[in-house]
Formats: sequence, structure tokens, C-alpha cells
Amino acid sequence: MLTLISLPAFDDNYIWVLHDGRHAVAVDPGDPAPLIAFLDAHQLKLTAVLITHHHRDHTGGNLVLRQRYNCAIHAPDNPRIPGVTHRLCGGDSVSLAEPAVHFDVLATPGHTLDHISYVGHGNLFCGDTVFGCGCGKLFEGTPAMMAASLDTILTLPDATRVCCAHEYTLSNIDFAKTIAGDNPKLLAREHTDRNLRAQRQPTLPSTLALEKATNPFLRFHEPDMTAFAAAYLKRPNPGPAEVFGAIRAAKDEWDR
Ligand code: ZN
Ligand code: FE
Repeated sequence: MLTLISLPAFDDNYIWVLHDGRHAVAVDPGDPAPLIAFLDAHQLKLTAVLITHHHRDHTGGNLVLRQRYNCAIHAPDNPRIPGVTHRLCGGDSVSLAEPAVHFDVLATPGHTLDHISYVGHGNLFCGDTVFGCGCGKLFEGTPAMMAASLDTILTLPDATRVCCAHEYTLSNIDFAKTIAGDNPKLLAREHTDRNLRAQRQPTLPSTLALEKATNPFLRFHEPDMTAFAAAYLKRPNPGPAEVFGAIRAAKDEWDR
């Protein structure tokens, strides 16, 4: 049996751990300390790290963890990522013996060009591609690139657990309400997630079904988001990538 755990790191990161009671795999352990403390407390051996992209808040644990556990480090093929033992691209898969797990690798560029996501055992480890009710900033990619990545994610089953790398959900909900304030599922999510945060619980993992219903960045094919984008861009009939780009631009403006 596999257990899925989120470990808080830094101010708002999550390190995701999947373990079988003896062996563990960790996603994006940017800070090794909380992971080592968890592994020690539960007498788990780390066999592999999965990295989604090159940012330091995701890769900062690689060298320490590899030295301590002699674990494999699976990551996108980017020389900026330290300690990598297995270089991946979209279409690849990762199979481990202990824990016995298998992940498909999706190319999900947009936040960065090297960004990949891992899908396995009902979980999506999407790094900084999808956040609860939000998505990553486009530091390197284009709106069309990110929209294509999100379209790939939209093909996954509704029950998929969406395991994001940051706890940004409440502020993302605040933004989502500015463009879809009459969405009852969004308002219900706000109620649930505010209660969780008040008790210092993570709002994640969410489900793909919940994101499809409430996350404006996954709703760029929907008529209400298309209407929002047309008004924002001041031209009729924007295409899906343009709708996504308009929502992303509006969020960037709102963040400033
Ligand atoms: Zn990042
Ligand atoms: Fe990050």
C-alpha cells in the first residue's frame, strides 16, 4: 500500500512523499531538512527524488539527499539541475522497485521550458504548472505553450489527485472570484479551503474534477472565461490560448 504525504517547506512549498512503509520517493525536495526529519521519524529510506523543473526551491535538496541516501535523482534534461542521475523528457516513464511505483512523464512547459510532471497511482505531481485554483507564472514559456500543457493535464481522469508544489490556493481563489465570482463551486471551495487553512491544514491535494470546476486557468475553453477574455483583450472571439493568456495577464496585473 502506498501512502501520500505533503511536507511543508520554506514559506509555502510542499514536498510530496509517496512511501510503502519502508521506502520512499520524494517530489521537489527543495529543502532537504523537513524531508530528512520525516524519513527519520518514520524509518523510511529514500530511494528516488523526482524533480519537475530547475528552480532552486525544488532542486535545492538534490546533492544532500543523494549523498545521504545514494538515491536516484530523476529530472528534466537541464544542466542547471544538480545531482541528476536520470534525465527525462515528455513520453518517458519512471519505474522503481522500492517502493514499487510507476510514473508517466508529461512535458508541461510554460512556467519554465524544462518543466515536466509525473502521473502515477492516481496522483499528478505538477510542480509549478497547476496550483490550487491557479497556475504557475510564465517565466520562460508562452501562453500557447502553457495552454497546451494544461490541455494535456485536462485529459487525465477527474479523480486524479492534484499535488501542487506551493500552497497558493486562498490567494488564487481571491483572484478567481474577481473574474468568476458567481461560480457556486468556487464559493464552496473557498469555504472549505478557508477552514482548512484556519486549522493549518493543506488545501492540497485537490482533484482534477475540482480544478476543472473552479480553476480559471483550466477553464479557458469555457464560455464565461472566453467572454472575460474578449472583454479584457477588447476584441471578439479569442482562441483558447488567447483566453488562457488573458487570464494569466489579468492575474499578473492583480498580483502587482
Ligand atoms: Zn518554479
Ligand atoms: Fe516553485
